[in-house]
Amino acid sequence: MALSDDLKNKIKRAQAGFDRKGKYLTLEANKSTVLRVLDGAWGTDQLFYYQFGIHYLGDESVVCRRVTADSTCLICEESDRLKEEISEKKQVLDQLKNSDLSREEGRALEEEISVLEAQEDALYVSKKWKMNVLVKGEQHPRIYTAPWSIFNSIWGVYVKNAEDGDDILDPVCGCSFECKRTGSGRYDTKYEAEVLIKPKPLMANEDGSANHAEIDRVLSERWDLTEDVEIPSSEEVADAYEKYQNGLASGKIKLDLGDEKQDTKAESKTDTLQETRPEPAPVATGTQSAAARLSARLKDRKF
Ligand SMILES: [Zn+2]
Repeated sequence: MALSDDLKNKIKRAQAGFDRKGKYLTLEANKSTVLRVLDGAWGTDQLFYYQFGIHYLGDESVVCRRVTADSTCLICEESDRLKEEISEKKQVLDQLKNSDLSREEGRALEEEISVLEAQEDALYVSKKWKMNVLVKGEQHPRIYTAPWSIFNSIWGVYVKNAEDGDDILDPVCGCSFECKRTGSGRYDTKYEAEVLIKPKPLMANEDGSANHAEIDRVLSERWDLTEDVEIPSSEEVADAYEKYQNGLASGKIKLDLGDEKQDTKAESKTDTLQETRPEPAPVATGTQSAAARLSARLKDRKF
């Protein structure tokens, strides 16, 4: 007998609820989580993780096409362009130091460089790594999105063992990792992962031997990590970037110009940060700020 639409919807809603709670692992603060990383072949490297990148643009975040899909990313290209411009301007500044550059002119150029640096810094791509994990005591795999410090620890152990011909992720004789999140907030959160050097089966019988049927079941339940990250089209990235640029121009989005040392590369978004950030220095545009005038003059010089 066919299910009624009403019942179908109820099941769907309930399922979504289970998925939200069960699909993703979030590390609880100040509590160790022991887990096994499950092997796989994901992403461009075809290894156990799926590497992806995120650009945080104001309040929005955009998946980076370069880091995630080895493809063109407008935001990364813009960042490359800014880096080049910064390096050129720094060269100019170096060449002019100890020459006829007045203190004011030097300061204007430095200010212009710091504006560009803040613009470039804000386009930073935050890399993350998704992996299938089995938390100790649980029966089904979950997706864990690891920040750099945790991924780097796992990766280091994985590579070191691989060099010796051992597979730390082996479901029969691999090892667990103990992961920990300490501190809180945007700047004080720390992540650590440590390998527990005691090879054990992923799923064991009562006598401690490998339970192959259960191991196969767990592995067959791994999540498709590719499906978990939606890669935006070039047009979508361009739209998001344009929106961000408009936000900058209208003053809705502010840049950290380095007066207050704050970590713009932190993982989490904050709403309060924007209010505490200093006003950005005027960006050199066609309206010809002092810095822009100087820059134009310097361009004409011969060295
Ligand atoms: Zn990018």
